[in-house]
Amino acid sequence: MSYEPPRLAHPGRGDSQDIIVTEKRVVPTLVDLIGASGYKCWLHLKRLEIAVDKKRSADFMAQTDSKNGTCELCGLRNGAVRSFRAIGPTRATQGIRVVGCSIHLPLLTAAAEKAVAEVADDQLLADERHAGAAAEGLVAARLSARLDSQQDTQDTQPSEPTRKTPSKTTRKAGVA
Ligand SMILES: [Zn+2]
Repeated sequence: MSYEPPRLAHPGRGDSQDIIVTEKRVVPTLVDLIGASGYKCWLHLKRLEIAVDKKRSADFMAQTDSKNGTCELCGLRNGAVRSFRAIGPTRATQGIRVVGCSIHLPLLTAAAEKAVAEVADDQLLADERHAGAAAEGLVAARLSARLDSQQDTQDTQPSEPTRKTPSKTTRKAGVA
């Protein structure tokens, strides 16, 4: 509500009149907004209320979202986005870090680990051999040694089952 109270700006001297100005003043008042006449004002206030509410929730969402990571493949941002740091044996691969959502993190993790393994593979040992080739040779030698020993035991085993009746063991195997 506004009103215009008159105010004495300057008391006039003997030869002139008093100078009186009026200034518009707005005072807060309680207005009953019920009814068609109050609808416009009510709508404005309601919209302000909704806007304040939306601003508050948007600020909150932005704050929580800022703590989430962004998937490096699809750009998804949510609480399920995790990071993975590949632990490499060399300075080049150490600290390769990938960030991914629940779908893409396994892919990124596998790629990072593969890259680390490839670098480790290329490294030379003290005796100038490639680490990867040497490791493969070692495992292959161990596997063939194991297969040889298994063949040896298989050669000696058949003497045992012959003691039992062969028909019984084959029937049992059929049931199982
Ligand atoms: Zn993703």
